[in-house]
This record gives sequence, C-alpha cells and structure tokens, in this order.
Amino acid sequence: MSGFTVAIVGRPNVGKSTLFNRLLEQRKAIVDDVSGVTRDRQYGIADWNGKTFNVIDTGGFVANSEDIFEREIRKQVKIAMEEANVLLFMCDVTTGITDLDAEVADMLRRSSKPVFVVINKVDNSERLLEATEFYSLGFEKIFFLSSITGSGTGELLDEVAALIPEELQAQAQDSELPKIAIIGQPNVGKSSLLNALVGEERNIVSDIAGTTRDTIHTHYKLFQKDFVLIDTAGIRRKAKVHEDLEFYSVIRAIKAMDEADICILMLDATKGITAQDLSIFSLAVRKGKGIVVLVNKWDLVEDKQTNSARDYENELKKRLAPFSDVPIIFTSVPDKQRIFKAIEEALRVFENRQRKIPTSKLNDIMLKAIESFHPPVVRGTPIRIKYVTQLPTYTPAFAFFCNLPDDVKQPYKNYLENQLRANFDFQGVPLKLFFRKK
Ligand code: GDP
Ligand code: GDP
Repeated sequence: MSGFTVAIVGRPNVGKSTLFNRLLEQRKAIVDDVSGVTRDRQYGIADWNGKTFNVIDTGGFVANSEDIFEREIRKQVKIAMEEANVLLFMCDVTTGITDLDAEVADMLRRSSKPVFVVINKVDNSERLLEATEFYSLGFEKIFFLSSITGSGTGELLDEVAALIPEELQAQAQDSELPKIAIIGQPNVGKSSLLNALVGEERNIVSDIAGTTRDTIHTHYKLFQKDFVLIDTAGIRRKAKVHEDLEFYSVIRAIKAMDEADICILMLDATKGITAQDLSIFSLAVRKGKGIVVLVNKWDLVEDKQTNSARDYENELKKRLAPFSDVPIIFTSVPDKQRIFKAIEEALRVFENRQRKIPTSKLNDIMLKAIESFHPPVVRGTPIRIKYVTQLPTYTPAFAFFCNLPDDVKQPYKNYLENQLRANFDFQGVPLKLFFRKK
C-alpha cells in the first residue's frame, strides 16, 4: 500500500463524490472480501494498473449545499494542497467557469503539487465543445469526463498512476521493526500519550526518517522490545491553524496508517465512538492493519459501577462489528494507567499479524469445522470445501478450495472466519478469505 494520496477539490455539486465513487468501484470486488465492511463517502482506496492509492473527496467534509461558506472551501483546498500528492480540480461543464472556480484556480496555481483540471458532466460530444473554455484557467493538464457514465476516467487514472513512484509502491516493509501509529480525533489524548512514552527519553533509540516528510518515526525500546512509533508532524507540533479541522486530522491519520503495521485508535471515553472514528477504523481494516482500540480519559468516566469497562467494551464491540475481535484497553494518560499495556497489546497484535499456520494443522481444524457445519446446498448441489491453505501474503489471508467458489455466501464466510479466530490467535488482525476453484 503506497501512501500516495489524491484529493478531489472543487465547489459543491460539480460531481466530486460521483467521481469518487467511480474511482473506488473497481476496488469493490476486492474490498468485499474483508468481512463485509462498508465503504464511506470521504476516503477510500483505488486500484489502477496494479497501483494503489488513497482518494479523498474533500466535499465529504463540508455540508453539501449551495450556501456553503466560501471560506470553508478555501480551507479544504489549502489543506489538500499541503497534504495530497496530486490535486484533482473539478469543474462542471454545464455551469462554465464560476467566480468560485476562478478563486480556487488562483489558489491552485500556487501549488507545487501537480494539479489536474477535471471537467465533469461532459456526457456527450456537444458538451466537449463547450468544455474548451476551461483552457482559459491556464493549467497544463486538463481532462474531460463524465463521472456518471465513466467515460474519460481511464485517461485520468492513467496519468495519476504514472505519478506514483515505484519505490513508494514497493516501500512496504522497509524495516523489520513493528511500526505503530497512534491515530484518533483531535483532543483524544494522542500527544499526551506520545509525550508520556517519549517522556521516557532513555527509551528512545533513534529517529528514523519517515517515508514522507510529514511523519516522524521514532525507534523505541521498552520491555526489551524494539518498535517504531509513527508520529505525524501534526501530533507533536500542535497549534497549527487548521489543527481542529476534521479533514486535516483524517488525512494525517491515513498517512500514518499507510506507514504502520499496527494502528492504535484512541477514543475519548466521555464521547464514545463517533461516525468518523468508525470510518477510520474500517479503513484500517480494509488496509489490513493490526488494530488496538484505546478508550482514553477513563479517569473522567464517573460512576464506574454502572459504566463498567465490561459494559463499555460490549457496547463498543457492537459498534465495531463485523470486525470486533480487537483488544480494547481503558487508559488514563495523566495517571499513566495502562499506557504501557497499550504498547504491549500493539506488539502482541503485531505477532498475531505475522502468524503463519502450517497447512496440515489448518486443514485438521478447519475441515473438521466444515464437516460439523456444512455450507448450504446450492441448486441441489452440495458445496464441498476440500482444502485450505494460508497464502504467503504479508497480512493473513486464506484460500479455501471448493467446487462452487462463487456460491459461498457471507454468513458461511463469517462462520469460517470465526472458526479461524476461535482456533488461532488473530486478535486485532483483519483476515482475508478467498474461495477458489480447485
Ligand atoms: P459534489 O457536491 O461535488 O460531491 O457533487 P455530487 O457528486 O454530489 O454531484 C452533484 C450532482 O451532479 C448530482 O446530481 C450528480 O448526479 C450530478 N453529476 C455528477 N457527475 C455527473 C456527470 O458526469 N454528468 C451529469 N450529467 N451529472 C453528473
Ligand atoms: P490530541 O489532540 O489527541 O493530541 O490530544 P492531547 O494529547 O492534546 O489531549 C487533549 C486534552 O486532553 C489535554 O488537555 C490533555 O491533558 C487531556 N487528556 C489527555 N489524556 C487524558 C486522560 O487520559 N484523562 C484526562 N482527564 N485528560 C486527558
């Protein structure tokens, strides 16, 4: 997974989210293999010609209405310019160049990043003629497409994919050390946690350069274990003007996540889990990252009798479903309560993620599980799963060989995944299950 990020910017209603959904479409088939997680409309992963990149729909972060504040859009564009690798500046052929388009164009002209102008709603050749007025914006790269029909999107994707450096694509495992990212919404306590760990200066071995200049990798040694904490610049150096912006924290979280093996997702116990937290969580699941959830500020939860950790944990797991086999730790940073436990758990998840089950053992257990609960019969034909093997992938994936691979339905896939989890420790680790014709 590369950390390459494409942001779609533009005023409301030009079609940003329509393009976004289309770019993510090819991915859907692959994504659906990860136990039924849903996609969301703000960010996702796209594949093109074997290259993978993040796509962000900046429109998803603002109220999608005409009376939207211009100021808000300017902020989004500014952040996108700082954080993304490529900017897709979307305009609408049916309205021509509006004042707001011209203003966004002024900002983007100052960008050091590549800007691709994307003229949308070019549904027919008549509109293609009208679209030529957009050359006057003065950008070199201009694409004409229809997000609704998909025409023209291939050319755009070709150019985007061409910008992704090979080494970023292959970057992956630059070091053997477990890499842990601390992510979460503003004010949950990320920098406090980091400082509590960093506070133990003697534990720092060295700073390693991150793969992008926005991240700091710090090599630690705790309990005789080596690991790298990934810290986004925004976490340590606070007080940037847009620090409070959701969009900013999300884009940073995605970058840190891309470079990490394990994500520590921090929540504020007094606020519970928010929709944004769930989106970040499901993104981490889709990216196959190890996950530990910290419920921080546990000291602020009063009346611990009724709000017991166990009840809290059960409620949380319901929200995290279908992937709820995750360690959940209740922390308080000022009291240093369980903060080292959090790291220990992250390292344990790292080991789970590297687990390789010998084929014979896997078949012993899984074929028995299949024998005791068969997949349902399809059109009079029984589905027979003959053989299971763990694939030699970096994150755990299993191939089940059977006569009717396309007919194995989600409930049975869930059963198999649960059996894997019941018999082998994969806590905190998303699993991929594939069904293949033998
Ligand atoms: P956003 O606010 O920029 O995210 O815009 P949306 O994606 O919500 O699209 C705004 C409207 O434009 C919706 O009604 C879409 O169906 C429509 N739209 C998007 N792309 C196209 C296109 O290629 N052709 C046409 N005719 N309409 C489109
Ligand atoms: P960040 O934006 O996620 O980096 O959050 P900070 O680390 O800046 O924390 C936000 C505020 O929450 C600060 O005032 C911290 O002192 C406070 N805080 C962090 N962790 C805890 C905790 O476990 N308990 C309490 N009571 N306050 C905390």
